[in-house]
Amino acid sequence: MTDITETDVVVVGGGPGGSTVATLVARQGHRAVLLEKERFPRYQIGESLLPSTVQGVCRLLGVSEELKEAGFPVKRGGTFRWGSNPEPWTFDFGISPQFAGTAAPAYQVERMKFDQILLNNAMRNGVDVHEEHTVTDVIEENGRVCGVSCTDAAGVRREFRGRYVVDASGNLSRIHSRVGGKRQYSEYFRNLALFGYFTGGKRMPAPTSGNILAVAFSAGWFWYIPLSDELTSVGAVVHREALDRVQGDREQALNELIAECPMIADFLSDAQRVTSGPYGEIRVRKDYSYIQEKFSRPGLVLVGDAAGFIDPVFSSGVHLATYGGLLVARSLNTALRPTTESGMDEKTLFEEYEARYRQEYMRFHDFLVSFYDMHSDEESYFWKAKRVTGNTASELQSFVSLVGGGSSDERALVNAGSYGDRQDVEEAIWSVAQAGANIQVQAATGGTIDEQVPVRDGGLVPSADGMHWALPATAAA
Ligand code: FAD
Repeated sequence: MTDITETDVVVVGGGPGGSTVATLVARQGHRAVLLEKERFPRYQIGESLLPSTVQGVCRLLGVSEELKEAGFPVKRGGTFRWGSNPEPWTFDFGISPQFAGTAAPAYQVERMKFDQILLNNAMRNGVDVHEEHTVTDVIEENGRVCGVSCTDAAGVRREFRGRYVVDASGNLSRIHSRVGGKRQYSEYFRNLALFGYFTGGKRMPAPTSGNILAVAFSAGWFWYIPLSDELTSVGAVVHREALDRVQGDREQALNELIAECPMIADFLSDAQRVTSGPYGEIRVRKDYSYIQEKFSRPGLVLVGDAAGFIDPVFSSGVHLATYGGLLVARSLNTALRPTTESGMDEKTLFEEYEARYRQEYMRFHDFLVSFYDMHSDEESYFWKAKRVTGNTASELQSFVSLVGGGSSDERALVNAGSYGDRQDVEEAIWSVAQAGANIQVQAATGGTIDEQVPVRDGGLVPSADGMHWALPATAAA
């Protein structure tokens, strides 16, 4: 007989997207089960984080201290040898009032450590985590998804049934297609990435030593991410036509690409490639730029890479996964209330998530299309960021706000403070303090940080505690 577990929410996948949803749902007193195929720590790419994740969602999750203690390199911004300017140029997250005033706006992280911190935190918050459980399919009844079937480490088939299933199982998700519709692959971003790890690579001088370095060259561009004083993540992103080149000897292909890019060759001139352990492999990733046509159906919702990813150049993946996780948690927390308010049915709640997520995705997408035009210089990239975001602040501030993950003006992403922590005690103090902070940020960025204004006609707004959706004041009156 199949072993069946009943719960409120079944989350598939323990990456940043899955851990975020599960934690924020469990903290509202709902039962959440998280099923993860691997045993953590497990390898994952996606090491350069944005302030919106570190200052925003991670604060809401309550892991700021742990991140600080983990000793990850502080990422103050980015340094780019990109576009028509032959010299490298640098931006600092601190130029945006949204991210100013903090010693550590973001981090470069070993995902094995970062994802473990988020998963442990989910467990501490009451999520029932099962590692080495591979989800094989969803279970449907009367057109509604009501659970998943999976295989545990011993090969035993189990079922987990819940009122909602969240697919956060990443780009290799087996169940995303069960939502209906297709994965729409980008016509524009058809690149592939070849990457490995080095010890002994050079560092930029302080205070930019923790920055991501992105260097364009004839075949594409390189990322160079310091993961510790010793360890560096190095990857080449090249056009898909170079597939043949990387399909043979990967080591040779990576070495040849490095030799074609003088700045990266210089940074690695005294470095050794790591050849053993989780960082010992040279990996290839392709077909990673896509968005799902639909994000939800009754009982099932996609989050993180299961829903979409664009391109690694501005490190938006974990931001989209954790922001999406927060939005989905709001939808589920609202749907799981004992009574459903009029105008807050499941379809509307999922639509709110999807509308906000797509808006954020498209901002990055549209900006990135211009950013790949190598005939422009940084001033035109900044101008484009201002146009894409509709921001009235300076071009540079608009650019930094966008690439820091703050262009949605969600206070949960730019200044989460004690928003999700100790809500009941600090709520009142927080609202007053935040109202002041919002006015300052709004004045400086020209953004619309008034969260009582929905982002679309008939849309919802975040509730006062930031963990649910609410009707805007005019609609509720
Ligand atoms: P994941 O992190 O992929 O987690 C999904 C989890 O689901 C995994 O733990 C997996 O084991 C589990 N799982 C899978 N299938 C099953 C199953 N059947 N049953 C149970 N569990 C399952 N992002 C950044 O923010 N910064 C970067 O610098 C960056 N660089 C990148 C470079 C490249 C080349 C690429 C391709 C991506 C990069 N990204 C970057 C994107 C980043 O890797 C992802 O966006 C991010 O990891 C998405 O998080 P997630 O939680 O959605 O999925």
